Formats: sequence, structure tokens, C-alpha cells
Amino acid sequence: MSKATKLVSNRIAIVFDFDETLIPDDSFEVLLRDFQIDVDSFKSDRIKPLVADGWDNYLARTYCLTQESQQRKTNKITKTRLAELGQKIELCDGVTTMFNLLNQRVEDKEIELEFYLISGGFVDIARNTSIAKHFKRMWGSEFNYNEQGEIDFLKKQMTHTEKTRYLYYISKGIEKENEKDLVYNYQDFSDEQIHIPLDQVIYVGDGTSDIPCFTVINQYGGISIGVYREDRTADEWEHSQEISPSQKLSNLAPANYQENSQMMRSLLLAIDSISSRIALRKLTNDQ
Ligand SMILES: [Mg+2]
Repeated sequence: MSKATKLVSNRIAIVFDFDETLIPDDSFEVLLRDFQIDVDSFKSDRIKPLVADGWDNYLARTYCLTQESQQRKTNKITKTRLAELGQKIELCDGVTTMFNLLNQRVEDKEIELEFYLISGGFVDIARNTSIAKHFKRMWGSEFNYNEQGEIDFLKKQMTHTEKTRYLYYISKGIEKENEKDLVYNYQDFSDEQIHIPLDQVIYVGDGTSDIPCFTVINQYGGISIGVYREDRTADEWEHSQEISPSQKLSNLAPANYQENSQMMRSLLLAIDSISSRIALRKLTNDQ
């Protein structure tokens, strides 16, 4: 099949990070504060020594949290408490109305938008937010819970590079039960096997954990948008110095998703840009 007669996917994926992208804070710190744990001393006195001893950061923080819960008589860290935290966690301005505004943009274009979340944080918090219903899939670090519903181990960790694996899942449209089977040979997939080509993926994230995803998205011609805190400026974005040319962002906007905000205009332009490309491919195919 020649390039000109490629099958055309009419889907666009918008993939979000969670911490400091859709919520203004780091959900791990919110969790600590919710259990009256001092964030700074928990990190410096308990997690840091383990990391210095060679522990992976995600495993170290889970181990410390599990120990903390186990030594408590009451107010243990449970699945129910994480769900309650998700229900009350503060979202960035405009996040709740963003999904409808984006969907409206493609209503008359025969384009389907799919929303995904790839978070380094504990995803059971995100899964209980009011916006969870908009996402086709939400992935992140996951606890295992004991019979009493208390956290007792980490069953899935989402490291920075691990996040990229899920971009390939999205492109392949892989079903949950087959997730383990995917070989990462995106370039070898035939057109029939592609659910959403990576050049039809928009990735939105704020920081270091997103840099590998920015690289993959840029490599395949997708659109990456960096987010910075609303109370800062783009120049103050803490990662601008770390970004190499291959990780370059299409845009950098404050974490405000209200109508007409810079972020919403960026997202809508990104959708328009990919929609035009899809329309062009269809036109070429029809001739
Ligand atoms: Mg983040």
C-alpha cells in the first residue's frame, strides 16, 4: 500500500499528565497533607535515605507510605480514603468544562476525540475525580490493597520512561487484557493495526516526568504542549533548560483551561491542525 492510499484514522487522542497539569498540586503531597504528614520531613527523613541507598523513588515512597499506614492504629491509608481524596482534590481552573469545549470543536468534522491520562501519581486518586468519566483510559502508579482495603504494596509503577509505553498502547488501541503483549515496534505496525497514529496525538504535561513522552510525540510528528503553573511565567518554567531540540514543545501555556485561555486556544489549534491533516489525507484517498 503506497503512502498516498494509506487508511485514514479519524481519531485524535489528547493525553494528559495529572499532577500539576490537571490539578495545581502534586497529588502525592496532597495525600500526605490529607493524612497530617509533614511533606518536607517525610521526603527528607524517610524517602530520601532509601533513594540514597539505591531504592527506586516510586518504590521508596510507596514503602514509606505503607509503613506509615501500618503503624497507625486509626486513620489508615485505604482505598476508600484515596477515593475520598480524589472526590475533593482541587482541579485547575476550567478543567471540568474543557472536555465539552474540545468535543464541540470536532462535532461537525467526523473526528472522534479520545482522552487519556498517564500519571506518575497514584491513579486511584485521579479515577475518583469528577472528570474521570471523560477519559477512555487512566493509567498511573497503583497500590495493592489488603483485605481491609489498606495499602500494602505497589502493583504498578509509572516511571518517566514507562509513560511512553502507554502512548504506544493508545496508538495500537490495545485492549486491557492484551496490554502485556505489545511489542514496541510502532513503525512495523500496518495501517490496519493502528488505532490512532502518533502524529494524531496531543500530549499535555508539566515536567520532568513528561520529557520522554514529549520526545516520542515529537519524533512521530504529534503535538506536545507544556504546562506551567498559573502563578508563574513561561520563562520561569523550570524545565526549559533541560529540554533538548528533540523534546521541543509546540507550545507552553499556563494551567488554566477556561474558555479563551491560552491553554484552550492552544488545544483547539492543535485539534484544528490535526483535523486539517486528516481531511487532506481523506481528500487524497478519495481521488
Ligand atoms: Mg506532572
